Amino acid sequence: MKILANDGISKSGIDQLENAGFSVETEHVNQSNLVNYINENEIEVILVRSATEVRNDIIDNCASIKIIGRGGVGMDNINVEYAKEKGLLVINTPAASSQSVAELVMAHLFSISRSVFDSNRNMPQNGENDFKVLKKKYAKGIELRGKNIGIIGFGRIGQNTAKYALGAGMNVLAFDPFMEKATIELDIANQKLDVTINISSMEELLNKSDFISLHVPMPKDGNPIIGSLEFEKMKNGVRIVNASRGGVIDEPALINALKSNKVSFAALDVFVGEPKPSKDLLSNEKISLTPHIGAATLEAQDRIGEELAEKIINFYKK
Ligand code: NAD
Repeated sequence: MKILANDGISKSGIDQLENAGFSVETEHVNQSNLVNYINENEIEVILVRSATEVRNDIIDNCASIKIIGRGGVGMDNINVEYAKEKGLLVINTPAASSQSVAELVMAHLFSISRSVFDSNRNMPQNGENDFKVLKKKYAKGIELRGKNIGIIGFGRIGQNTAKYALGAGMNVLAFDPFMEKATIELDIANQKLDVTINISSMEELLNKSDFISLHVPMPKDGNPIIGSLEFEKMKNGVRIVNASRGGVIDEPALINALKSNKVSFAALDVFVGEPKPSKDLLSNEKISLTPHIGAATLEAQDRIGEELAEKIINFYKK
């Protein structure tokens, strides 16, 4: 029984599958050759991350396929409903990467509170001759402790981010239209502490936050959650992080808000038009940038591979 992991899968996932008698192909097949490859090799399970698309052409023309698996959360690259209508099992690994994304958000929060990202850009070239100039340029950092962080979208990643933020001494405000409060469990030095966060209104969150981090799915209507109207309601000098989906923040409105100093710094892991983000964002010296690596830790990749393997093995056991 053959599995094609077209965007890769962790070694631990491969081991688990091979031990259960599956054969796992990890060589990347181009999108245009996928239908032929699947048919010629009688692939029964196709596993993808965000790069490969599984659209109706594959679902309609590859009779051998039984399972479509997405390593990660978002299923935008798979025609999920259509696949289900055709009787295919569609699986993903929603919880496996929450911890890793939350840690990347913290990395960006620390980075934009002390301009670490920009200092790293300038020190290699100018550090030797302009040390004092750069020291002055980066002298207006702020601490996270005691600041308000507004978390928009209080699901798995939002709540994991809240745990770290609480650990850093921040006050957490959260907005999520589908809940009134959430109790999150902090696990510190083998002691457990429950912290209940009451959900705020969006208005209150925008008005009071020193930092804002977004952890929402892309709205179905495709409209951004944060645009110029929302920026206007924020504190002057707010710092904002987006590691959810490109387009959740209106990118041109963000650039304007950075220009006017409404937003002092931003951090982006996700972009409209990936893998070709806007040059205006990439060249903006007030933005800390990472190329959609929220889930890209060894630990998350292992958990993703193992969770997919488990689901596939269980399916074939039935
Ligand atoms: P989740 O489903 O657990 O949580 C999302 C939350 O957003 C839910 O509680 C939902 O009620 C809330 N929500 C929906 N619409 C909202 C709105 N308009 N305003 C406020 N809240 C809203 O999802 P998750 O696992 O926490 O993932 C969150 C986001 O992170 C997703 O967009 C996902 O694609 C993205 N993600 C990014 C990476 C990365 O590499 N950067 C990795 C994994 C996930």
